[in-house]
Amino acid sequence: MTGTALKYLSSMINLSTNVEEVPKIGTAYAKKLKKFGIKTVQDLLFYFPARYDDFSEIISVKEARQRLGETVCIQGQITEIENTNTFKKFMTMTEAVIQDDGAEIKVIWFNQPYLAKSLHEDDFVCLAGKVSLYKEGIYLNNPTYERINEIGENEELTHTGRIVPVYSETRGITSRWLRYVIKPLLYRFCEQIPESLPEEIIKKNKFLPIQEAVWQLHFPDSFEHADASKARFSFEELFLIQLNVLKEKIKLMVKKAHACPMDADLMKSFTDSLPFQLTDSQKKCAFAILKDLEKTVPMSRLLEGDVGSGKTVVGAMAALNVIKGGHPASSAGRQVAFMAPTEILAKQHFKSLSESLKPFNIKMGMLTGKDARICKDGETFEVSKKSFLGDLENGEIDLAVGTHSLIQKGVEFKDLALVILDEQHRFGVEQRDHLIKNKKLVPHLLSMTATPIPRTLALTAYGDLDLSLIDEMPANRKKVKTIIVEPSQRKEAYDFIKKEVADGKGVFVIFPKIDSTASKLKEALEKHGPMAGSASDSFIPQNYGPMSLSSLAVNEVKALKEEYEKLSKEVFPDLRITMLHGKMKAPEKERIMLDFKKGEIDILLSTSVVEVGVDVPRATIMMIEGAERFGLSQLHQFRGRVGRSDMQSYCFLFTTSPDQLNRKRLKALVESNNGFELAEKDLEIRGPGSLYGTQQWGVPDMAMQGLSNIFLVEKTRAAAKEILEKDPTLKAYPALKERLKEFEKRIHFE
Ligand code: ADP
Ligand code: MG
Repeated sequence: MTGTALKYLSSMINLSTNVEEVPKIGTAYAKKLKKFGIKTVQDLLFYFPARYDDFSEIISVKEARQRLGETVCIQGQITEIENTNTFKKFMTMTEAVIQDDGAEIKVIWFNQPYLAKSLHEDDFVCLAGKVSLYKEGIYLNNPTYERINEIGENEELTHTGRIVPVYSETRGITSRWLRYVIKPLLYRFCEQIPESLPEEIIKKNKFLPIQEAVWQLHFPDSFEHADASKARFSFEELFLIQLNVLKEKIKLMVKKAHACPMDADLMKSFTDSLPFQLTDSQKKCAFAILKDLEKTVPMSRLLEGDVGSGKTVVGAMAALNVIKGGHPASSAGRQVAFMAPTEILAKQHFKSLSESLKPFNIKMGMLTGKDARICKDGETFEVSKKSFLGDLENGEIDLAVGTHSLIQKGVEFKDLALVILDEQHRFGVEQRDHLIKNKKLVPHLLSMTATPIPRTLALTAYGDLDLSLIDEMPANRKKVKTIIVEPSQRKEAYDFIKKEVADGKGVFVIFPKIDSTASKLKEALEKHGPMAGSASDSFIPQNYGPMSLSSLAVNEVKALKEEYEKLSKEVFPDLRITMLHGKMKAPEKERIMLDFKKGEIDILLSTSVVEVGVDVPRATIMMIEGAERFGLSQLHQFRGRVGRSDMQSYCFLFTTSPDQLNRKRLKALVESNNGFELAEKDLEIRGPGSLYGTQQWGVPDMAMQGLSNIFLVEKTRAAAKEILEKDPTLKAYPALKERLKEFEKRIHFE
């Protein structure tokens, strides 16, 4: 560390200083760093490398000349250096000759013309790069370079001559720049980083202290040191997740909820009124929920069951018991909110719940973005939102079905005792705070999902929820036949579809969404032809700019329309085909779904909007284009849209991808009808990032990797429990509390 480098870090700067104020960084870089979530000096020190290059062995030039094809690190003196132009006129080339001990080697850099200005003849350098062969002989190809004072210097090297950190880069921020900025900051501030892990945990696990671990993670002395540091932070990040989740649980457990006595007679008359028998699994889950509802401790339960396993009826039992339990003649005065993720689903639930609960004389209402309805004595009326809200507040509505608009500001219940959330994993932090803040009695929470949750996630991200699992399908279901359709079999599949439609069956066609990343753009271009003016062979078209990016959403609809044209004009000219996409307004979507349900539409073509919950028993074919683009769990969800009756259903997976990994995934789908098995498979093939929702959580990489390590998950959970039991507010651990606060700003489980 040189004196000048130290001087620039004026004493005004500390760990919590905004990076903008660090002289080498400034406004422009600070803006870029913000994209990684880096705001302060401390954030930057906690921005860890993704991997390392091992340049730790420095060899002589003579030796390097023997190692053709290998990446080597050498030190030497520059004897010549100059820029030349290559045959391709846009590329500059910097050529140099480096020598040590009489041996020399040529060095070539591409497109770094400034190098000839910053490196000069007679300078000493350390270089790391690949020994390559060209017409004129051996040379070092595009090496990483670093100026040194003399040959043999190996202290204080940053970019070469050591294990070098490589960060995940985005436009405008290189690993070299990060090393250049982070290293002096480490010298200056690393010792000020407060230890965040409790001492007993460090001792027990023999972890490196935080300062050493941060240093060794950026500039490790050996790979063992890097691994030891990683172990510490993997633990710490999972530990923080555990603290976050368990803290929420404690927050809820000190609150009081309505105790709703289980009314066995009522439940029996409800199940007797159903046109089917509950499966054992449904009974078991319903019982666990009804037991929870009897307590004054608020329930926080996740009901998990594969698509079609019959979660709604279990939710309906809970709702009915809360509303009428012990008061068969009238209502107990307690209210239930039943929330669906979309308007279509809210309406579907409203309709089916008002049918199944009809014998029980329950006052039901529905609220979505604009619509409000009331169901009285078996008849449904449209009402104004204002009158709906009034009824809700006066207790005139027992069961309110709706979208999230049900628990927004300005919506007041008289006595909300249970909230059911359909097809979502958990209540958002804000939603939950809204539900429990300033309330003497807080509602019980029941969330229902078809997404399989592996054990590691059940013990981390969902660790605050009790889990009930419906692991059995209703008996009358036929297994959906799943078939991978090769391009050559397309016509055959189409013919089959025509036959099924002639039989009165409905067909879903799913068309993949186009992502806005360059590679997805490339695929789209190949499939649908280039956009105007992009005749380049480079994979990013020349007009890849604001125009093409902003028009991607439009393109998604356009691609769907093209597919629609093709299907309706060429393939199925005699059938009634309709499109459904995310850009449509809710009433239009709803009307289309209804027509499809009634049999007025034969083929429904859509992007992924039919993914969750829609129930169309007459649909028996699910045809998926570009199937390899979807995750296994998502494909399984699509498939769950059919096979909802006693008719044989089919899932056609259209793919043109020869990629073996994709094939393997699709085959797994053919072989298994079990959502859990498939999620585990996806986890195995594609890693934790494949799990639904995890990308949006903002969980750091190391925690993400830790999420597949059940041993670590259990260990961190036990540690978090132990500490919270002793000290629920973490009063005795201020540094940990501070880190947790920072961490919580970043993560948001859904
Ligand atoms: P999901 O778990 O995907 O939400 P639903 O609750 O929508 O599933 O149920 C799917 C269909 O199965 C509905 O039409 C429902 O009436 C029916 N169903 C639910 N339970 C049973 C059962 N035990 N036997 C037969 N059909 C059932
Ligand atoms: Mg459902």
